[in-house]
Amino acid sequence: MQNWRTELNRICLLLSLAAIVGYAVGHISWVMLISLCLYYLFNLYQLRRFNLWLNRDSSESHSEPPESFGLWGDIFDGIYRLQKQERRASSYLANIIDKAQESSAALEMAVVMINKQSNLDWWNLAAEKLLGFQFPKDRNQSITNLIRDPRFSDYFYNEIYDDTLKMDAPGESNKVLEFQIALFGEHERLMIVRDVTQLHRLESMRKDFVGNVSHELGTPITVIKGYLEAIVDNLDSLDEQWHKPIQQMRQQSLRMENIVRDLLILSSLETKGLTKTQDLIELITLFSEIENDTKQMFKDESHTFEIICDPSLRLTGKRSEIYSAISNLVVNAAKYTPAGGHIQLSAEANGGLFEIGVQDDGIGIESHHIPRLTERFYRIDGSRSSDTGGTGLGLAIVKHILARHEGDLEISSTHGEGSRFICRLPLSRASLEQSVSKTKTEALSTDT
Ligand code: ATP
Ligand code: MG
Repeated sequence: MQNWRTELNRICLLLSLAAIVGYAVGHISWVMLISLCLYYLFNLYQLRRFNLWLNRDSSESHSEPPESFGLWGDIFDGIYRLQKQERRASSYLANIIDKAQESSAALEMAVVMINKQSNLDWWNLAAEKLLGFQFPKDRNQSITNLIRDPRFSDYFYNEIYDDTLKMDAPGESNKVLEFQIALFGEHERLMIVRDVTQLHRLESMRKDFVGNVSHELGTPITVIKGYLEAIVDNLDSLDEQWHKPIQQMRQQSLRMENIVRDLLILSSLETKGLTKTQDLIELITLFSEIENDTKQMFKDESHTFEIICDPSLRLTGKRSEIYSAISNLVVNAAKYTPAGGHIQLSAEANGGLFEIGVQDDGIGIESHHIPRLTERFYRIDGSRSSDTGGTGLGLAIVKHILARHEGDLEISSTHGEGSRFICRLPLSRASLEQSVSKTKTEALSTDT
């Protein structure tokens, strides 16, 4: 502003001088016109210098602005200052981008940015190695064209990215990759891909090892248990001091047999996929069978059983597995409910899911145990459970079976009042018997 005022003063001074000189020579208007033309030429000259400086070639891009004074000097300096600031900001940004690129290139996991049209935007070096992307050819290509696997397309377009996806690397069946996607910005996606071949191999080795060990232990345990049972049958012929140890040995051999049986079940659930052909299970019959078998096991406890289930309800699944899951829950309910207690089995549609519930009014579970109950070998009270012959594998088996049927287990309990275990399955697995009227079928779907 200061310079602007000085410039105006300078113009006024120039015009006054021109007026005085013009008056002296007797041609005021001519002299004033000539001085204005000179002022105009001076400005044109400065504009030209300015233009030349702005359009200098890139090798001189850091050159200082032309020397000037007054308003023009101010303009040159101001622009030079702005240029310096911008140069500093862009070199800072370039530095950050360089660092980000160098660090992402050093990563072993692939990092891929995908735009909202599902096309590739950017990827790091590891993505080229793991997924075979090529720069710049694959830029803007659709990700599902480059990773052609229906499992990947389902995962990508379903947009439920809570879990990761594990599958073979494109074109390399001996490599296992784990995909994880996160949404950001305007529906853009960041995809992280890790090579988990080694982990996958270790996991299979662990499964095989548990399966093999359990299998190999089966025969020796059966032999030991057989001999012990024979000895127990002829206990009278033995010295009194041996009675208790032999009884304990037999009890523990039974326990070992149960552990090996449960481990074998778990191992086969983990390694074998669910067969495509599944059974249409009549739930009311299944519930009655489980009730009778459990009553047989807990004859002295005289629990009362209640079954709430529409007789026409059918469940699609592997019958032996569903039997095992519900039976595990009902046996637990009987085990942890004092004599005369009440056990309820129910099946109903609820909130878009099909729920099978097992409820008891037994001892209940303290809330801090609940999240860990489905872990292998997790028992609330080890000593009490070994008395009851428990292995702590029952609920782990239930969880696995439900997961194979796209379901999960919900546990709620009040310590001292009872527990409720709910098997939540997709509603599509439930149906009503064909012969039953249409209104009943509608009732099942409107229930949700
Ligand atoms: P056990 O039940 O005898 O411990 P298990 O092999 O049946 O052996 P899980 O079925 O996995 O084991 O049960 C794990 C734990 O959960 C048990 O230790 C038990 O304390 C607790 N539990 C399971 N069901 C109930 C229930 N209905 N009421 C109270 N506690 C339960
Ligand atoms: Mg159990």
